[in-house]
Amino acid sequence: MINSVIWTRLLVLSTLVLAALSLPTVLKTEETKKNEQNDFNPELDDFVPADRYLTHDEMITWLQSIARRHPKIAKTFSIGKSEQGRELLVLELSHSIERGERDLLMPMVKLVGNIHGNEVVGRQLLLRTISHLIQKDNVDPRVTRLLNTTDIFFLPSMNPDGFVKAREGDCWSGGPEGGRLNANNIDLNRDFPDQFKPEDKLLRSQNELLQSRASETQAVMKWILDNPFVLSASLHGGAVVASYPYDGSGTSQQQGFYSAAPDDKVFRKLSQDYADRHPLMKRSDTCGVGFKDGITNGAYWYDLKGGMQDFNYVHSNAFEVTLELSCCKYAPAADLPAEWEYNRKPLLNYIASSHRGVRGLVVDKTTKRPIRSAYVHVFGIDKNITTTEKGEYWRLLTPGRYIIQSFAEGFVPSSSRNIEITDIYTEQLNFELEPTVHQKTITRLICD
Ligand SMILES: [Zn+2]
Repeated sequence: MINSVIWTRLLVLSTLVLAALSLPTVLKTEETKKNEQNDFNPELDDFVPADRYLTHDEMITWLQSIARRHPKIAKTFSIGKSEQGRELLVLELSHSIERGERDLLMPMVKLVGNIHGNEVVGRQLLLRTISHLIQKDNVDPRVTRLLNTTDIFFLPSMNPDGFVKAREGDCWSGGPEGGRLNANNIDLNRDFPDQFKPEDKLLRSQNELLQSRASETQAVMKWILDNPFVLSASLHGGAVVASYPYDGSGTSQQQGFYSAAPDDKVFRKLSQDYADRHPLMKRSDTCGVGFKDGITNGAYWYDLKGGMQDFNYVHSNAFEVTLELSCCKYAPAADLPAEWEYNRKPLLNYIASSHRGVRGLVVDKTTKRPIRSAYVHVFGIDKNITTTEKGEYWRLLTPGRYIIQSFAEGFVPSSSRNIEITDIYTEQLNFELEPTVHQKTITRLICD
């Protein structure tokens, strides 16, 4: 008996030692082989090379092959084409894909890279994130849980025409030759309708909003407007900071004006959570420019009109933060392994933040049918969230006590409900709205 215990212990110990000794070697060999011999095969590999950028064609092939090999959790679709006809390809990752449709109340998150064609670290990090999640699914319980509860969408390159012009090692290019802009020299992050532009304030319908925008902007705008995204990030380079809405202000001040969004507290928390987990972002001397705690209000840094993050917040339910990830815009590929280490945890945590706050259903009290386009209002926050066609809503909030109410056209507003938000659980709060008397009368007349 004793012998057998000792033997078992030794066996375990030797296995551990062997594992400790051999595992890194095996991994290193595998990775070294892939990188040094450059034998990455986008048709066959779940890995992306750790220290080289994928070309546009390789990226498209790789994303499609991932979806082909992992059809239960991955799916690709195009949201449109660039001005020069390159695919704006999205990869969706979630266990709900196998179940046929998104689960009720499952939050949708999107991550967009490379809106500026020469800001490429985020583009590559999104590919690494996809690769990581695919490989860790059913291996790491946290990843399995994330994919089981979240619908994640990746658009690694929003500006592929700019990307093909950009050159590795070019840290600063801002002009047409450097690849920042699209093929028609439009800065896509200045091309969205803006709440502070007088001419854009008049735009009402989706068609009016879309008119005269670049193909890439139109494709992404439609995607934003047609889907109930809860959370979003846009990945940039040229600084290391998490920058949150608003990017614009109603002032003519170029910088130093704090243009707070109604959800300033939520945006600050999302940004701070990212910066705190990133070893360089939270330092105030990174890239030689100081950002206190690694975060900034967009307009306070510098005022810009027509940005994507403000559009998300003003025209949809999606809360978007701009993540500036590298001092050098087109950082040398040798920096990529370190960039992945800096950003892996912050990115995964950011995706999981879509589960913060409160969610629920708004239904008709009489028929129990979902109410589409109902409003969910939090007292003290001048931003209403609207429900999906299934009556779902997600309301990101920081911990604290809140009073929430729901209302919809044709229904009596709900009573005010108290709720306490913590950092531990996602709260669920459903509303049943009673049809107004007027509505009942009309229904009766039509039925008669
Ligand atoms: Zn940028």
